[in-house]
Amino acid sequence: MLGSVEVSATPKEKFREFLATKKMRLTPEREIIIEEVFSDHEHFDAEEMVNRLSRRKDSKRVSRSTVYRTLSQLEEAGLLRRVARNNDREIYEHDYGYPQHDHLICKKCGSLEEFHNEQISELIKQIAEQNTFLLEGHRLEVYGICRQCLKPPVRRHRRLDMV
Ligand SMILES: [Zn+2]
Ligand SMILES: [Zn+2]
Repeated sequence: MLGSVEVSATPKEKFREFLATKKMRLTPEREIIIEEVFSDHEHFDAEEMVNRLSRRKDSKRVSRSTVYRTLSQLEEAGLLRRVARNNDREIYEHDYGYPQHDHLICKKCGSLEEFHNEQISELIKQIAEQNTFLLEGHRLEVYGICRQCLKPPVRRHRRLDMV
């Protein structure tokens, strides 16, 4: 967690506005999904969201297909973004009201670690300027093997060796 950023409208209001432009309503089902998605800042895929929702008492009538559809609508509305692909799963996160950050993605276990680096942001700003490019944001994915997966497997301590 990197803290939070002040935002003027709640995600729900933003989503309601977006749906209105598509002549759609913020149904109770969509409302439950957006509540769950924005209840914390976590990386998740659609199936994990289906599971999280199934633990809520009020989510009985939210179908899997509604979850999938709503997640892509949230993405289209700019409230959710796809951060990575892992074993054919699309990993989402919301960065609405959350500081800009990039990800270290482990190819072995699929874990995502967040980092923010001013120098990278500065560099990208310069590159944009040099190319007369109006910068709106950036996304950086760094692939490799995480700390946990780099650890050598724990060797059993053999008492006999010490004799
Ligand atoms: Zn790993
Ligand atoms: Zn993140």
